[in-house]
Amino acid sequence: MPEEPLNVLQFANDLAGFRADLEHAANEYLPIEHQDPAAAALLVVINALTANTEPTTAVARAMTTYNRIRGQQKEHEHAVEAQRKREAAELAVEEEITRKVACPTCGAEAGLSCVGTGRSGGLRKKSHADRVRLARSLNEGTAPSHAHDSGQPPTTV
Ligand SMILES: [Zn+2]
Repeated sequence: MPEEPLNVLQFANDLAGFRADLEHAANEYLPIEHQDPAAAALLVVINALTANTEPTTAVARAMTTYNRIRGQQKEHEHAVEAQRKREAAELAVEEEITRKVACPTCGAEAGLSCVGTGRSGGLRKKSHADRVRLARSLNEGTAPSHAHDSGQPPTTV
């Protein structure tokens, strides 16, 4: 079976499409966590080889690109994790302060959890907003100026 001759035009079209896909996946304008380091590396090696760069050099360039993006992604992941831990710690402190007062919304006593706040949304949703405000104002040493200013109309009898 004779080898099919390379259809140069078809090859050029296919390569252009492939490059476009790789550029889309590697998109350096996206946030670092959405960039695909393997796509970026493949793009580098293809560009280098089609420009007649020596193969070992082409592969070395591709690896450099891959390692650079992966390195930036790891830095980003560490920063996100550190930020998450800081926020969790801050919320834990705030929740501890909040639990020192009774809740004006659901009547939960000091030290007890609010009732009916649901389980979704993490620590911030553990206590009713009025309780958080009350505890915060007391913690800052100032009595709340409008203890019943919860945006609800006063009950009329
Ligand atoms: Zn409550």
